[in-house]
Amino acid sequence: MLKIENLQASIDDKSILKGLNLEVKAGEVHAIMGPNGAGKSTLANIIAGKEDYEVTNGSIELDGEDISELAPEERAHNGVFLSFQYPVEIPGVSVTNFIKTAINETRKAKGLEDMPAKDMLKMIREKSELLEIDRKFLSRSLNEGFSGGEKKRNEIFQMAMLEPKLAILDETDSGLDIDALRIVANGVNKLKSKDNAVIVITHYQRLLDYIVPDFVHVLHDGKIVKSGDASLALELEAKGYDWIKQELV
Ligand code: ADP
Ligand code: MG
Ligand code: MG
Repeated sequence: MLKIENLQASIDDKSILKGLNLEVKAGEVHAIMGPNGAGKSTLANIIAGKEDYEVTNGSIELDGEDISELAPEERAHNGVFLSFQYPVEIPGVSVTNFIKTAINETRKAKGLEDMPAKDMLKMIREKSELLEIDRKFLSRSLNEGFSGGEKKRNEIFQMAMLEPKLAILDETDSGLDIDALRIVANGVNKLKSKDNAVIVITHYQRLLDYIVPDFVHVLHDGKIVKSGDASLALELEAKGYDWIKQELV
């Protein structure tokens, strides 16, 4: 599904990704871990197409097509979802209305009509039940006064509704309490299927107490320097990152 080869990228002439390779197949959950400043968020942003970065080398293929020249919206329409792509507060626009608009925009980009209201409601009902999201939440104004957990709930709801091929969840280190971690983990566990793939980026092992990844990768200094199964996350929890840095010397 996703194939990244020799990705090199910089920002303001500072090199951040230094030849990164990653392959993700449908049905897989990958965790990307690594110390602060390693380039994890940069990688997520570049896959999603954020324009602050300069890709100087390498390729990003989604289902065999190079997406590295596509605009962020086009990548989203092709099934790439990045959490917190829409972190803005929009007073007066509810969680539900926002996602309805996003879905219909995606359909429009593919030359499809709006989703019939009846189908949309059915989908909203099914997904919110699956994720145990109550109706009151769905009618709240987008991100307005949301707690950390509510922001996560909204993100996971967006992911559920948009049904991306590839979801990237960048769990930045701050403000993730156990409730928020559980919301993310339950969402990923319920939404993963043989047809989609999830990349979970985290600085902390504890998220992976709830999501069992098929693969764990360590990103260090702009490259994936070690890959393994879920047990690698436990090893990192116990030993930190220094032993990996030493292995590299
Ligand atoms: P991580 O998510 O692994 O903590 P980041 O991808 O956020 O790492 O950052 C990698 C490196 O790139 C860091 O040294 C960071 O300071 C730098 N960096 C990231 N974004 C920017 C930016 N917008 N401007 C300047 N430097 C940046
Ligand atoms: Mg960071
Ligand atoms: Mg980060």
